[in-house]
Amino acid sequence: MAQLVQSTHHASLDDYERIPHLGFGVREMKAEAETLLPRLGGRRVFMVNSTAQGGGVAELLPGLITLMRDLGIDANWLVMQAEEPEFFALTKRIHNLIHGHGDADLGNGERALYEEVSRKAAGRIREHLRPGDILVVHDPQPMGAGALLRQEMDITAIWRCHIGLDDETDETRAAWGFLEEWAGPYDHSVFTAPEYIPACLAGRATVIHPSIDPLADKNRDLSVRKIVGILANGGLVRTSSPTVTEAYPEIAERMQADGSWAPATEPEDLGLLFRPIVTQISRWDRLKGYLPLMQAFVSMKETLKADGAGLSPERRRPLELARLVLAGPDPKSVTDDPEGLAALQEVREAYCALSPDLREAIAIISLPMASRRNNALLVNALQRCSDVVVQNSIQEGFGLTVTEAMWKHAAILGSSAAGLRQQIRPDLDGCLVKNPEDPHEIAAALKGLLQDQAQREAFGSSAQQRVHADFLVFSHVRNWLRVIASTLELRYA
Ligand code: UDP
Repeated sequence: MAQLVQSTHHASLDDYERIPHLGFGVREMKAEAETLLPRLGGRRVFMVNSTAQGGGVAELLPGLITLMRDLGIDANWLVMQAEEPEFFALTKRIHNLIHGHGDADLGNGERALYEEVSRKAAGRIREHLRPGDILVVHDPQPMGAGALLRQEMDITAIWRCHIGLDDETDETRAAWGFLEEWAGPYDHSVFTAPEYIPACLAGRATVIHPSIDPLADKNRDLSVRKIVGILANGGLVRTSSPTVTEAYPEIAERMQADGSWAPATEPEDLGLLFRPIVTQISRWDRLKGYLPLMQAFVSMKETLKADGAGLSPERRRPLELARLVLAGPDPKSVTDDPEGLAALQEVREAYCALSPDLREAIAIISLPMASRRNNALLVNALQRCSDVVVQNSIQEGFGLTVTEAMWKHAAILGSSAAGLRQQIRPDLDGCLVKNPEDPHEIAAALKGLLQDQAQREAFGSSAQQRVHADFLVFSHVRNWLRVIASTLELRYA
């Protein structure tokens, strides 16, 4: 199937423009759209990806599409669906290879599977298209389908790749060797960083950074009472006080000593509102570096126990009270991602092997996914009550979780994965560790940040300004309009 997704985004251009610090960005976008829109000639735009929920791409499409529609473009979102789980296992392998990991042996069997599923998907997507349309295809899953459609129809096709590695390895060569024939038919391609552009697309690619939507439930401002209400409704804090809004039908859960799940306030309240909180929120994925982060936090706590006696109370207290929150999607929502479940299992085994006091200091949290809105609000509130937001990715194409936290003025501790380096200027917007697999380096950086409130404040302010200047949806829309207009010119020259 190819499912047309109705974007559930409620903000309009007027809503954005009414907010003083966003008004300028909106007006600049409108002015540029006025000159570029005639070059689109009323053509429809279809964004195609492979999931309506979960992960960075599904996150950024609603804001982008809503603003394009508000500007007068007939913009639409199609999700490619395939019944064959082995197809998504293959595209996940390709994804990992582009990030330099995994088995590089891709042969004829894989090619045949990719082509067969792409042909079927192309047939279903074609039902929505007509000549003249502009197809923007995101990532490797629908890439084959988009290429076939471009060969069969009078459309313009752009491939948007959200992943990449700033290095060429046997793995990346294998991935691009596999994808090259499918990249060929596209009129243009878009990458997140210049280092990610493979040789086969050199000269046919533009760089566009992803963005966040400041009025989305994930990012909008929340008053203190709202933050507390969301955390209480979502089961992340215990309260005996009534709240204005009702408890969510599905609440957050916390991993227990035996590895099972129970309400997140069991066996005791997390202390989210009072303790120094260090958080990482991501999909369960080995490349997100959950395990070394947990080891780093353990090492920080153990060193404190061993030689913390010499520290002054002001330097010891934050480390003593600190808690680590590792949060990700409810595993029931990712049963189609065996690799993700295996990564969570590794976290589970490491967590269950910890001593009781370390287990008390670390919370593995499953966030409910049934309601997109409630999940977004919980992520928003959790990021807002974190003293340090960590993204310890081994590899990262961009890392919207970091952009989201930067927007909320958080002090970021990131790895030097290429995507994070696009966003965080080291020691200005946050702190970057060189090796995300070295618990001691991470522990030292974490300790430094937890002990230095002034530094956290300074990082937070700078990070927020950086997002304001470069990573909001308004500049993202402008960049897309430019790329679409220039691609059309070449296509119909
Ligand atoms: N996310 C979420 N709920 C979760 C875990 C993650 O909404 O339980 C969101 C997160 O806020 C971010 C996106 O998923 O918007 C992840 O995007 P990112 O670019 O960081 O990584 P990706 O998943 O695309 O590799």
